[in-house]
Amino acid sequence: MDFKEIIRVIPDFPQAGISFKDITTLLMDGGAYHQAIDALRERVAHLQIDLIAGPEARGFVIGAPLAYALGVGFIPIRKSGKLPYETIEVGYDLEYGKDRLAMHTDAVRPGQNVLIADDLLATGGTISTAVNLVRQLGGNVVGAAFLIELEELNGRAKLPDVEIISLLSYD
Ligand code: 5GP
Repeated sequence: MDFKEIIRVIPDFPQAGISFKDITTLLMDGGAYHQAIDALRERVAHLQIDLIAGPEARGFVIGAPLAYALGVGFIPIRKSGKLPYETIEVGYDLEYGKDRLAMHTDAVRPGQNVLIADDLLATGGTISTAVNLVRQLGGNVVGAAFLIELEELNGRAKLPDVEIISLLSYD
């Protein structure tokens, strides 16, 4: 299946110069969504995974079904102020803007193997923050899986010690 034909590209969103990869057109196509998650499941099959952590909001729609398919738990990584229990937080820069991400302090136990999942790797700021949170809790980051990688932005260079897995790449 050619996922690139299904993913819609919106020029100049959310600001001029950004070519936004709109995955909602893939998510609403049941067959394509299913195949994309299955393809990611196959690509991470060699990893020992106890938990998947996904940053809100699109990390949930990739990470949660992948966790279900693998039979492992899912950890939501959220924007500051959204999680109800005790959290750790890390600030970061986005491709456009700044933010803070948070995780519950009991989400990962020391030594657990965690895969990070998100829809798209751009500058690597989000994924670095997720890796930082998991490692602060003593988790072992075994990899990071994405539907899409924007190669030009070379986000993977921010994390040379993490195995980066992506289904599709765009220039
Ligand atoms: P990074 O932190 O790697 O620069 O940006 C990745 C994060 O921003 C991801 O959580 C992703 O959801 C969001 N993002 C940035 N650009 C795009 C895009 O073109 N399409 C989508 N769907 N998400 C994007």
